Amino acid sequence: ALREAAGGRVVRYDASLECELRQRATLAADLRRALTDGEFHLLYQPVVALPGGELDGVESLVRWRRPTGEVVSPADFIPVAEDTGLIVELGAWILDTACARAATWPGLRSVAVNVSARQLLDPALPDVVAAALSRHGVPPSRLTIEITETAVFGGGRALATVKALSALGVSIALDDFGTGHSSLGLLRTCPVDAIKVDKSFVDGLGGTPEQEAIVTALTGIAETMGLRTVAEGVETAEQARRLHQLGYRHAQGFHFARPLPAEAIDDLLRQRQPAAA
Ligand code: C2E
Ligand code: MG
Ligand code: MG
Ligand code: MG
Repeated sequence: ALREAAGGRVVRYDASLECELRQRATLAADLRRALTDGEFHLLYQPVVALPGGELDGVESLVRWRRPTGEVVSPADFIPVAEDTGLIVELGAWILDTACARAATWPGLRSVAVNVSARQLLDPALPDVVAAALSRHGVPPSRLTIEITETAVFGGGRALATVKALSALGVSIALDDFGTGHSSLGLLRTCPVDAIKVDKSFVDGLGGTPEQEAIVTALTGIAETMGLRTVAEGVETAEQARRLHQLGYRHAQGFHFARPLPAEAIDDLLRQRQPAAA
């Protein structure tokens, strides 16, 4: 329905907005209960070496299974968990769970955990990470914390937290690299060990020469600075082949493996053969 706004401007009256707000409040309450009831679990997506596809590390990705059996994507609930602050508690559970698994995977170079902007504003985060590592006897060097450029853009407390995390000895990876603010500038101010080149750049391969030039330049800069580069969202053999040609040594994506339950990673480590889709 359309309503006449006070200034004579025609605005759309949206009954679905109220509905959406109510849904969000319900979701927030459900999430709190889900944490107590153990409805979250982690999947682990292999990060592989190019060109052979040997398993190098894993990235943990959270899932929420409702009592109905429906599995909810993090894209749908992480923003709500951030708004309500529940991400701090949920994030601590994720770190502890990932570290517990990392302890059982000594042959795996690294286990990565995503940390959201709101978590970086919590000055206690480095202590939470250090406690999870020592609880499970995992050396800091085997944990990678994935942050986004946007979360640390502007410096302040988030940047201070990242510096404290780095001082612990954990690796810092810049996720979705190239899509946020100040991608390159951040490499000067923020302690970074790895960049994860966003899927959108991988999707651009085989397009214009300009697109390939960007993909090449990103790994060129990173390697010169001594950073690892991981190409994200690799879905085809052709993309993998081209990325290797352009100088990429590590990749992640459905072409190699989907996010998998921990038991499937156990199997891959037992076999120690290329993680194939
Ligand atoms: P991200 O960290 O960039 O994770 C990569 C996402 O891309 C994952 O989606 C993964 O399943 C998906 N992906 C991997 N390979 C491919 C591919 O070849 N093709 C396509 N189309 N997608 C691929 P997911 O698991 O749904 O996670 C989405 C985002 O939610 C993550 O993006 C991350 O920002 C956030 N997230 C996931 N787990 C956590 C967590 O434990 N904590 C926090 N704070 N955020 C998380
Ligand atoms: Mg990530
Ligand atoms: Mg990513
Ligand atoms: Mg991404």
